[in-house]
Amino acid sequence: MNLVAYSMKTKGGAAFGRRLWTVFTRFGLTEGRTRRSFQEIIEALRPYGSAPTFFVPAAVLERSPSLIRRAQRMGVEIGVHGYVHNDYRALPKREQVAQISEAAALFRRQQVSFEGFRNPYLGWNEDSLAAFRELGFVYDSNEAVIHDVIDPATLPPALADSLRRSLDLFQAIPYTEYNLRPHTEDGLLRIPTSIPDDEMLFDRLRLPTGQVGEIWSEIMRRVYAAGGVYVLNLHPERGALAREALDRLLATASGQSLPVWMARLGDIAVWWRERAATTIEVAPVDTGRWKVTLTGSQRASLIVRNGAVSGADMIGWPDGDQLAPGQRCEMNAAVFPGVAISPRTPASVEEILSEQGYPVVRAVAGEAAGYAVYVDRPEGLGRTRRERQEAASALVHDIERGAAPLARISLWPDGKRAALSITGDVDSVTIQDFFLRILEVRRYTPARQEQVAAQAGAASRQGVSEAW
Ligand SMILES: [Zn+2]
Repeated sequence: MNLVAYSMKTKGGAAFGRRLWTVFTRFGLTEGRTRRSFQEIIEALRPYGSAPTFFVPAAVLERSPSLIRRAQRMGVEIGVHGYVHNDYRALPKREQVAQISEAAALFRRQQVSFEGFRNPYLGWNEDSLAAFRELGFVYDSNEAVIHDVIDPATLPPALADSLRRSLDLFQAIPYTEYNLRPHTEDGLLRIPTSIPDDEMLFDRLRLPTGQVGEIWSEIMRRVYAAGGVYVLNLHPERGALAREALDRLLATASGQSLPVWMARLGDIAVWWRERAATTIEVAPVDTGRWKVTLTGSQRASLIVRNGAVSGADMIGWPDGDQLAPGQRCEMNAAVFPGVAISPRTPASVEEILSEQGYPVVRAVAGEAAGYAVYVDRPEGLGRTRRERQEAASALVHDIERGAAPLARISLWPDGKRAALSITGDVDSVTIQDFFLRILEVRRYTPARQEQVAAQAGAASRQGVSEAW
């Protein structure tokens, strides 16, 4: 599907005409306007000691290498956004591998380092994940968590329809505590991103920047309450237009009672590796008394709930949790403050629970009463990706909000409650880029594959049900 087809399909003809007009207002014949847009976002984040992550198609990097290298020198993380701006769901796996490795080679030639990948249109499938692993990417940022901050019932029918089509295109998954966390799938880190993105709010719904700032702030408050990560999607082309909204979001994040970690996606990937190498050990001291010890990253903290704690100065945390800034504490609990799983439950369930930071042990059903939580899932968490996400979301919610005692490793480093990452896709730098995209996408999506594309697109829109 080329850009025109995509735009017409999701936005309609009139909106495409509007898009053309905005292209002329947001880009120039030179890189100047984009450089200033980058600057807006960089400057907004600087007072908070952070920087953005920009994803760039290789073809755009090839035409503007010094601009991108300069951004990287200024602390911006650069990730790969395809070779050209095409929908990978249209491509067989070998073609995805070929295009991604061609993109990676160009990044290396241009001496722009990278660790992450985000697909154009967030258009990933299982083959994309296999390709990322094969080519050594550390993470992807494609899973689109939808925050229901816009009620389609309040929109005119055409807009409501356009919003629905966007959600289909982005394969949106619901907002849950579990879905808002990074997670590892066969060695590939997946950092969820959030929608609606800036394109929906500014261009389709045409909301004023003050209102967008309030929507972003509301999402931040919800993500904070869930303790997850908010990955904002802000195309740098809207940097100037969105500056006020961005400032408002950053002020909301820094104004919460507990600190929010503002980080680039690459920083999150580094932390997640560090956290994965950190273990939590729970050992009985006496009847109803446990020694909880973290070993590994000094940036990790202990979080406990439903049990009196000694040996550490605790910090009050939302939902009845407490955070121990140190690496150990003693906890009163009638049962083991962690999760036991039955011998017949597959290792995949154990991996998911361990990644949440819980102490996880194996125990037979007869011993279940000695543990805060006992999980017996011989079938695993489900057959399809969607089933597994739903089951994991329910399980994590029950464990972390339940009445049973629990000790766990904090999700974020240095006593942070939640995380915020400002990211954006640099789809074009100049007006020329915008129009070259149309030709490039056609070249990288051969006609015979458009047929496959249409079918694959339809299948993925029916629901994401492929096997992990
Ligand atoms: Zn893009």
